[in-house]
Amino acid sequence: MQNAAKDEMLVLIRSLRSHVEADRELPGNVPSFCMQEGNASPASPGLSGSPQIFVPGSYRRFSVPDMPDTLKGTNESDALNDVRMDLGDCRRCALHKGRKNIVFGEGNPHAELVFVGEAPGADEDDQGRPFVGRAGQLLTKIIEAMKMQRQDVYICNILKCRPPGNRNPESGEIAACEPFLVKQLEAIRPKVICALGTFAAQTLLKNDVAISLLRGRFHRYHDIPLMPTYHPAYLLRNPSQKRQVWEDVQQIMNMLAEDSG
Ligand code: URA
Repeated sequence: MQNAAKDEMLVLIRSLRSHVEADRELPGNVPSFCMQEGNASPASPGLSGSPQIFVPGSYRRFSVPDMPDTLKGTNESDALNDVRMDLGDCRRCALHKGRKNIVFGEGNPHAELVFVGEAPGADEDDQGRPFVGRAGQLLTKIIEAMKMQRQDVYICNILKCRPPGNRNPESGEIAACEPFLVKQLEAIRPKVICALGTFAAQTLLKNDVAISLLRGRFHRYHDIPLMPTYHPAYLLRNPSQKRQVWEDVQQIMNMLAEDSG
């Protein structure tokens, strides 16, 4: 068999294995974040639809290409500090006028997993920290269900300032802010990125495909596997979708375990 075909076959087998492993975990062994509040039963009766398998290429190399020379040879926390310094007291778009705090991002500068959300809300703007409101508490539970702590991962957003009234980010705001997110990801060089919600997934993947179609399989951000999943704020309104998120994050867990094993 040709090498390329062999590689593709290997990736296909890995993808199938992760689906089988994810299926095996359900429905008996669902984590507490999947339970309805005040109810011990799972939020949704079972899996729907057949697994989607997508083979975009090999995930065995995790380096982000095109790392700027300025970041080479530094360690991840220095590189992240440099990005923060570079951002400064940002006034590159109009959002600075209404913000209380820049929400740069937080967590382990050596994280293997980075969560990317949309933009800070009121609580995040008050505290200058990402995902600290109700949606953030649910994200923390998801991370714990993955057998990690918040401090093990890195959490950030597409935008670093709160849009007024939590409206959707505008293209000029994204254009001003995204280069800093790119530099953060280049600095951390995680093994996996989890895009939370439509907005983060579409911005990182540069498409306008519905999150319901994007989720459930790995895509690529440069050379990094990227798993889109539902935003925790959406889960608060639609708890029946928590099962799907559990499936998605189990695929991430399998990917991380495979790479370290
Ligand atoms: N929603 C987001 O997308 N990001 C946050 O930091 C908080 C809520």
